[in-house]
Amino acid sequence: MERLGIYLQVPFCQTKCTYCNFHTGVVAKERFAPYVAAVCAEIRGHRELLRAAGVELGKGSEKQEDSQEWLSHLVDTVYFGGGTPSLLEAGQLQEIVDAIREAFKTEFEEVTLEADPETIEEGKATAWVKAGINRVSFGVQSFSDKELAAAGRMHRRADVYRAVPILRQAGIRNISFDLIAGLPHQTKESWTQSLEALIALRPEHVSVYLLEVDEGSRLGKELLAGGARYSAGAVPSEDEMAEFYEKAQAELAKAGYHHYEISNWARPGFESKHNLKYWRREAYLGFGAGAHSFSGKLRWANAHDAAAYAHAIESGRLPVEQLEAVTEKMALEEELFLGLRQLSGIDVRRIEREYGVALAGRFEPLAAAGLVQREGNVVRLAEEKLSVSNEVFVELMR
Ligand code: SF4
Repeated sequence: MERLGIYLQVPFCQTKCTYCNFHTGVVAKERFAPYVAAVCAEIRGHRELLRAAGVELGKGSEKQEDSQEWLSHLVDTVYFGGGTPSLLEAGQLQEIVDAIREAFKTEFEEVTLEADPETIEEGKATAWVKAGINRVSFGVQSFSDKELAAAGRMHRRADVYRAVPILRQAGIRNISFDLIAGLPHQTKESWTQSLEALIALRPEHVSVYLLEVDEGSRLGKELLAGGARYSAGAVPSEDEMAEFYEKAQAELAKAGYHHYEISNWARPGFESKHNLKYWRREAYLGFGAGAHSFSGKLRWANAHDAAAYAHAIESGRLPVEQLEAVTEKMALEEELFLGLRQLSGIDVRRIEREYGVALAGRFEPLAAAGLVQREGNVVRLAEEKLSVSNEVFVELMR
């Protein structure tokens, strides 16, 4: 039976980190309950709301009567992202999980909650497990208090050491840590210390992201303007970031982690089942303000503003902000881009067969430049080029 992933967007945070380019807001706790009620209403009424919003095409079928068939697939992964979903009361998370169980066929294999270390409490963790949450993804970012403070994070190193045993005690067997390479004040030494501290805590999964510099964050804007606020002057250079990434590759491999996606490593068997759906172009349905969905034929996103979203749902309307039919050309580009993000690479024959294209011309120059490697039908990014993968993707899409 085909599977479906569900993503829940919780766009609330305690503060705004300087590097954050997500649509999140700092709001009073009283705003959580109406938002959760709206998300539950969207889940329960999803078929009617989608139809009314003009989201009609289903996966693999153009026929109107079959158009929502993919919504009946078995839901095996759920992902609470944000924002900081761990700020919600455990009972509110339970309400959302219950609504999913009522509205879909479910057999949960992986239910992830993104959490900030300082939000972890014993009672909460036990209630999360009771609600069905079996994976916690921690925004650790760094083990240096100086870097955490400069980035505007609420937690400190000590919070991570306090939170992990609480989660283990509560029965969470799958913990993921995020680190960011490129935070202000990060040095080769502090990065090595963060990696060592992370490995010593033995999370099952690790994500390493490079600092994104764009207009969407306060730090990004400051860097682009050449200013010094938010410790912009202390941000490592691009070359240093690439070095940090390569150090992570080496240390995580030594510690037994399997590198399976550009930014992700896992102990065998702990690869993120939900995130793999994104990279494999499988169907997922997003609920909440700003949540994205993909049916196989269409991509769409809900409006970002949490209050406007909740108000629309209360009035029986789904505020779809972007709705895009995925053309054959777009689908092919996604196959190449998302496929190459995975270290297992892409099956060139399958893509050539499915899309009726010849790909040799695209890959030969990249292989000659040492950017990709070809082994039989499989093409993958060259391991030593992973830290500059964006350059490879630019070449590939030319
Ligand atoms: S906790 Fe995450 S989502 Fe919230 S402000 Fe910080 S980076 Fe952004």
